[in-house]
Amino acid sequence: MIDFEFHSPTSLDQVFGLLDQYGEDCRIMAGGTALVIQMKQRLSQPGHVIGLRKIGSLNSIESTPEGIRIGALCTQHQIISNPVINKELPLLAETFRKVATPRIRNMATIGGGLVNGDPSQDPPPSLIALGASAVLTSNSGDRVVSLENFFIDYYETDVQPGEVLTSVLVPKAPAGSGAVYLKFLPRTADDYGTVSVAAVVSKDQDGTCKDVRIVLGSVGVTAIRATDAEDALRGKALTDENIRAAAALVKDAVDPLDDFRGSAEYKTDMAEVFARRAVEQSLASIS
Ligand SMILES: Cc1cc2nc3c(=O)[nH]c(=O)nc-3n(C[C@H](O)[C@H](O)[C@H](O)COP(=O)(O)OP(=O)(O)OC[C@H]3O[C@@H](n4cnc5c(N)ncnc54)[C@H](O)[C@@H]3O)c2cc1C
Repeated sequence: MIDFEFHSPTSLDQVFGLLDQYGEDCRIMAGGTALVIQMKQRLSQPGHVIGLRKIGSLNSIESTPEGIRIGALCTQHQIISNPVINKELPLLAETFRKVATPRIRNMATIGGGLVNGDPSQDPPPSLIALGASAVLTSNSGDRVVSLENFFIDYYETDVQPGEVLTSVLVPKAPAGSGAVYLKFLPRTADDYGTVSVAAVVSKDQDGTCKDVRIVLGSVGVTAIRATDAEDALRGKALTDENIRAAAALVKDAVDPLDDFRGSAEYKTDMAEVFARRAVEQSLASIS
């Protein structure tokens, strides 16, 4: 491990001061599950690490008229076990339950995962499908960025120097909608997905598709929203034939890499299969 100085600020103002003072020579640490590995591998070599743990204001979950506000420092376990999330946003509890192992979920935070920007992580597809936004705070105030625009490239996000991700805003799911997160795990239960898909579907009284969001993970440099597939389904009857035709369009939206989890061709085929299943299962879950 490299040598570094650890700072434990107790307020955001102190964090901003440290970010200003040390600039590119410092990194923020939340749960540390990603950053510590990167430091051990010397992919990141900061002289100063700013721990967020002592900033209590960053780890609460509250219901607001606009939706649920989740503090950036909330651990994945905290989200899974929170009654408000389980009642209002069961898709999120289901998604975080599928991350790694309890050991990781007890340490890793929602904010750390998002800023890490790994396209194979589980939460981004579900959060984007739910229309969530990130609140980025700096000395100049808050900047709210839709998570759909937050991920720029492989491990690259829209967080600017001097900014801290302070919370994630998730609108409540529309009435009469169904949602599901599917993670295709052909290897081990605690692996990253070979392909993952989140879908949120709502239908009109006559059975046509009122709205649909389909977002895929592990099949590109960021999570990918399959807008052509969504457009093909919105306003149409939710028949098997229409769902199949829409899911087929997902193949043109993804751009996976060949790796030990499968060839690009295999992942592309599985993206179509899992997108279809995700829409079918979301539909079946509408109560
Ligand atoms: C063994 C293992 C298995 C895993 N399996 C899965 C899996 O199956 N699915 C999955 O989704 N993920 C998986 N992960 C990844 C895990 O979810 C991430 O490591 C975790 O979400 C990162 O959160 P953290 O709080 O530990 O972030 P940290 O490691 O503390 O930080 C990560 C990055 O975010 C920055 N950062 C952290 N918080 C903030 C903030 N509030 N504002 C600005 N910048 C910030 C840090 O500077 C760093 O660059 C796995 C990780 C491990 C080690």
